[in-house]
Amino acid sequence: MLAANEIAARLREVRERIVQAAKRSGREADEIRLVLASKTQPPDAVRAAYHAGARDFGENYIREAAAKRAEVADLTDATWHLIGHLQSNKTRLATRTFEIVQTLDSARLADAIAHAQPTPLMPVLIEVNLGGEPSKSGVGAGDIESLVDTARAKVEILGLMTIPPRAESATGARNYFAKLRRLRDRLAATTGLALSELSMGMTEDFEVAIEEGATMVRVGRAVFGERPT
Ligand SMILES: *Cc1c(COP(=O)(O)O)cnc(C)c1O
Repeated sequence: MLAANEIAARLREVRERIVQAAKRSGREADEIRLVLASKTQPPDAVRAAYHAGARDFGENYIREAAAKRAEVADLTDATWHLIGHLQSNKTRLATRTFEIVQTLDSARLADAIAHAQPTPLMPVLIEVNLGGEPSKSGVGAGDIESLVDTARAKVEILGLMTIPPRAESATGARNYFAKLRRLRDRLAATTGLALSELSMGMTEDFEVAIEEGATMVRVGRAVFGERPT
């Protein structure tokens, strides 16, 4: 892992870029939550970011996250986001490990989450597969409304999340981010839910995502450096 002071310096730089992107789009920087994607990073990397002010961490693998969280259990005001795919048979450990699941993509999974945590309703985002890519999880744009209808009594739906298809350019990514925002606006109108959260943007494109309305950006490498492969 990078040295703790380097992680702190990179975190400051990402924060500054968030401030500038917010300013360019007439938004307040404190509307945007920086979720650090800490998959494959050791607990000490999380600790270094925490001491530099980070409070939100995103993890992809349930067991890795549970073990890591246990090692930094003293950081009691950190919030853990599940940003990787969740299988129904892992929901119990997931609801104990995470405060928010960003990857709800089926009615069956909503049932399993509600079964593992009936009350209070688990906060979730619906993961949208905007490009309709078969290799990715997430619900297709055409199926979201029926998912919201069946899941809203079982989980607390806060908004939408997406990992758009790899774009050749920042403009390509921008189109997908704008698409997610419009989808949210339409869905909020038809369902009556606020759906105020939009989780979109990573190391390569988080500033564009902020310009298009992201309320959560998920950033890994810009803060922690390249992941070991
Ligand atoms: C790894 C990951 C990120 C962060 O990616 P970087 O390119 O390292 O910023 C964001 N979102 C999800 C779902 C991820 O798996």
